[in-house]
Amino acid sequence: MPLPPLYGHEDVRRSLISARRRNRLPQSLLLHGPSGIGKERLGLWLAQLLLCGDGSEEGPCGVCRSCTSVLRLEHPDVHWFFPLPRPKASSPEKLREALEDHRAEELALRRENPLHRPEYDRPPAYFVGGVRTIQGYAAMRPSTGSNAVFVVGDVDRMVPQEGSEEAANAFLKLLEEPPAGTTLILTSSRPGSLLPTIRSRVLPVRLRPLADGAIADFLEEVASLSADEARSAARLAEGSVSRAIRLRPGGGDGDPISAVADEVRALLSAVLDSAATKRLELAHAQSSFGARGSDFGDTLDALAAGLRGLLRNAGGGTDSPADEAAISVAQRASVQPAPAAVSRSLERVDHTRDLATGNVNPQLLLADLLAGIHRDLVG
Ligand SMILES: [Zn+2]
Repeated sequence: MPLPPLYGHEDVRRSLISARRRNRLPQSLLLHGPSGIGKERLGLWLAQLLLCGDGSEEGPCGVCRSCTSVLRLEHPDVHWFFPLPRPKASSPEKLREALEDHRAEELALRRENPLHRPEYDRPPAYFVGGVRTIQGYAAMRPSTGSNAVFVVGDVDRMVPQEGSEEAANAFLKLLEEPPAGTTLILTSSRPGSLLPTIRSRVLPVRLRPLADGAIADFLEEVASLSADEARSAARLAEGSVSRAIRLRPGGGDGDPISAVADEVRALLSAVLDSAATKRLELAHAQSSFGARGSDFGDTLDALAAGLRGLLRNAGGGTDSPADEAAISVAQRASVQPAPAAVSRSLERVDHTRDLATGNVNPQLLLADLLAGIHRDLVG
């Protein structure tokens, strides 16, 4: 099955098309923005643009042999990498093979089901073996033309490891001087936590959260939701398609939309409470990899959704279950935080997102964040 169409990001698409036409597209780019907004999907669209046999001013044609094989994830010169959990392997060579096998399985699942989202019980990352594979493909001649494209997702998961200096250096060299005809498209939702040596070698391209309308269209057209269901899941999704997929009716255990409203209620009650106990309890219960593959990011999303509900309430409009949950909590606590204070809290959430890399303690970060928001909102 081909990948579903790319939704949103029209302005960035236009500027990439224009840069390509003027031969100004650098060989190493970093697409960054919140998680789940389609950064890797945009990377694959860019691969289509670069390899399309019949591209116009509008972008890749979508129907030529090259475009269709990119969309089926079968193009021999388009290499899609993503972090994977560490396999058990007895030697570096075995590790590399196990990672390649796992990547092939994951690609097959993505081909089969456009809504597939991997769930791992260990934090995924890039290991020396994976970087070696990227290097190996980059050293080969493209098989269909003169161009090859690498999409390397969540590159902030490329963390320094013992004995990995050589691989990290090789990756940096690849970024700095990619072989002729090779384009490297990296993506990250936490550009602040990238190795500075990576950041300085790529052109950053910032992507914004998707509009609710684009997400609702995706849910209707790709996930076959009714217009009403699509709209209510989109309103809680914070601009993220992945989050919308989890929140769609039938997308998780029980009713995911009311589960999010419950989470919003619990988080806001804790930050508005005069005693610190609830905040510490919530922080203590936070794990980086929760039961259903949910991570720290989900908690931050719920917190942000609740804070936006408070802001919308101040502006007189509420339109989602998260808004209603947020408002009822604020009313019960008899607080009416000033919009400026809520905005400050939202900035804290964003800052925490930047700090939240694979190897920080989410419990400490959350405790610190909830205490900060309490000071903002209650004083
Ligand atoms: Zn084409």
